[in-house]
Amino acid sequence: MLNLYNVTKVYPNQVKALDDVSLTIKKGEFVFLVGPSGAGKTTLTRVIFREELPTRGQVLFNGKNILRLRGREVALYRRKIGMVFQDFRLLPQKTVFENVAFALQVSGAGKQEISRRVPEALARVGLEGKENMLPAQLSGGEQQRVSIARAIVREPVLLIADEPTGNLDPDTAWELMELFQQINQQGTTIIMSTHAREIVDALQKRVIALEAGRVVRDQESGGYRHESI
Ligand code: ADP
Repeated sequence: MLNLYNVTKVYPNQVKALDDVSLTIKKGEFVFLVGPSGAGKTTLTRVIFREELPTRGQVLFNGKNILRLRGREVALYRRKIGMVFQDFRLLPQKTVFENVAFALQVSGAGKQEISRRVPEALARVGLEGKENMLPAQLSGGEQQRVSIARAIVREPVLLIADEPTGNLDPDTAWELMELFQQINQQGTTIIMSTHAREIVDALQKRVIALEAGRVVRDQESGGYRHESI
């Protein structure tokens, strides 16, 4: 589904955030992206989302070169991808329902579609009954569930989560990992960057480790560190 070939990203300040990264991710995979701060994890997800263009290299999504997309094609491409962030990024003045609906409105969905799909997405993340609450009235775990609902409401083929449990206590983090696994089992490919060593060690998914912009390990069922195999 996703192929990166020799992707290098040098920022204008000359920092080389990605250094000759090549990897393939297949439909339905669950991939952990690990590595120390500054290793290039966020840059990699931004390149995949086409928020950053690589300095060199190619990125193919379902065989199509995403670096050549222009204007509206970029927006259409991004609709296939859901994004979840460590800090939730919800709109504070909007209700739970409105936050999720917003993702559909910007892609031109009508009222009927919104009134069908938003409750469906909220049910998938276990937030029935919270539609009219504001983000500030929810726990951190619930706020992250809203952001997951917003990410999946357009039924993306790929979900990218950048340290989604970084702000949550361990029990809540585990509950969210259950949810991510369910979403993956229902067919959505997931790329998740994380520092949560216990989670990575326990779940034994594919692990791609970055260091100083390079892939230093790509392991089928791996732990957080190489020693843990
Ligand atoms: P990680 O997500 O693994 O912490 P990042 O991708 O955020 O790593 O950063 C990789 C490197 O690129 C770091 O040295 C960081 O300071 C640098 N970097 C990230 N974003 C930018 C940017 N917009 N401009 C300049 N340098 C950046």
